[in-house]
Amino acid sequence: MPLQLPILPLATPHQRYSCHGCGSCCRDFSVQLRAVDLQRIKAQGWRTELGFDPVIRFRGQHYLRQRADGACVFLEADGKCRIHARHGFAEKPLACQMFPYTLSPDAHASRLGVSFACGSVTANRGELLRGQEAEALRIALRGIPESLAAAPDALLAQDLRSQSGELGSLERRLVRWLDSAHPLCVRIDGLGWIAQTLSAAKLASVRGDRWTELLDILLGALPAELSMPILEPPTKRQLAMLRGAVFARTEDPKPLAAGAPSRARAILQQLLRNFRWQRGRPTALVPTIGIGWPVGARFGAVDAMPPATESDESGPIDELVTRWLRARIEGGRVWGSGAYGWSAVDGTAALALAVASVGWVARWHAAACGRAGVTLADMQAAVGRIDRTAGRAPWLGGAAERWRIAYLLRDNGMRRVLRAQWSTFVPFDSTSTLHAHPA
Ligand code: SF4
Repeated sequence: MPLQLPILPLATPHQRYSCHGCGSCCRDFSVQLRAVDLQRIKAQGWRTELGFDPVIRFRGQHYLRQRADGACVFLEADGKCRIHARHGFAEKPLACQMFPYTLSPDAHASRLGVSFACGSVTANRGELLRGQEAEALRIALRGIPESLAAAPDALLAQDLRSQSGELGSLERRLVRWLDSAHPLCVRIDGLGWIAQTLSAAKLASVRGDRWTELLDILLGALPAELSMPILEPPTKRQLAMLRGAVFARTEDPKPLAAGAPSRARAILQQLLRNFRWQRGRPTALVPTIGIGWPVGARFGAVDAMPPATESDESGPIDELVTRWLRARIEGGRVWGSGAYGWSAVDGTAALALAVASVGWVARWHAAACGRAGVTLADMQAAVGRIDRTAGRAPWLGGAAERWRIAYLLRDNGMRRVLRAQWSTFVPFDSTSTLHAHPA
């Protein structure tokens, strides 16, 4: 029997979560089932009681069936779970029990994190997450052994095994930068710059103390380095890449309702949606991404929406985005087992792309709601939507995502798409001391 790892509490201070029974995680979420879940559901006799099998197979996996409105078949009209009401919390599918906790093991410990797809987490309501490790442990012990089993430490970069302390050095410095007093758009631009700089560096000879020195030099150069070179707005191709990233992070094939398409048809539909996203004609409607998401925005309206950093609610938006980024990093969801086994350098670049995606989705949500600017509610919806696929959508750990990121790391593409979402994009003039930040 493998050794059971200790659980590390989330270092992000003031992050809160309690279940408020909103039932939103039981709507429009695909609940994947484990063997132990299948046994429990079978033993509970639902097939006979419901008159149909509540479990459906899709692409080789088992899921809970959903109703046509996207709700789980076990969700009652009063927002309560039928399995929970009849058999107790511990008899629900493990994915339901564990949400919104995440556990990301490395060689020494399993880090407790939290998904911002949960409204309580995004709104920071409830009990402090620190102190909830025992609850996460109890759930994991019921049948999620891999979340408590030792996993290899993340690579530093591709083919470069990390040495003692290197990942922690990067983590602390990223958090320090993102938590600094600079305006949010500057911190986000800096994240893109760090991602681009580390991705371009040859790190094989910069190990141990030299790695820490390199990071200190990089962080010490911020924010001054952000004013050089003068950045142009993103190219059409770079923006198409960003829309592709948004599609990949928001795509949620709905195989679970009655009348689910065949596998071939589902793949074809997915390819067509991807094509419409990439093309993104200004007059075209942004395709819908699921039940409850506002519809009716056109791509052109999204691109015309002012960035969130100009919002009347820029203070609470800053607090949310900073807390989310800290929780992603400190919860072990940027590299290693919590991020498809990606290296620290690749994971940092993927995080930058997720931030650009959040910026775009918040503007999209605002446009679809008919607003003139981004509100905190738009940002909560965007962070929740982008974070729900983090670490759990296999395609985000695959070759297409790597290729997209590699493309954007060239020619300052990552910074250009980040700025286009988070700043009013004004190219620098020679008198600028800092990049274009709205006054
Ligand atoms: S099984 Fe219960 S907790 Fe899980 S999604 Fe369905 S209604 Fe929600």
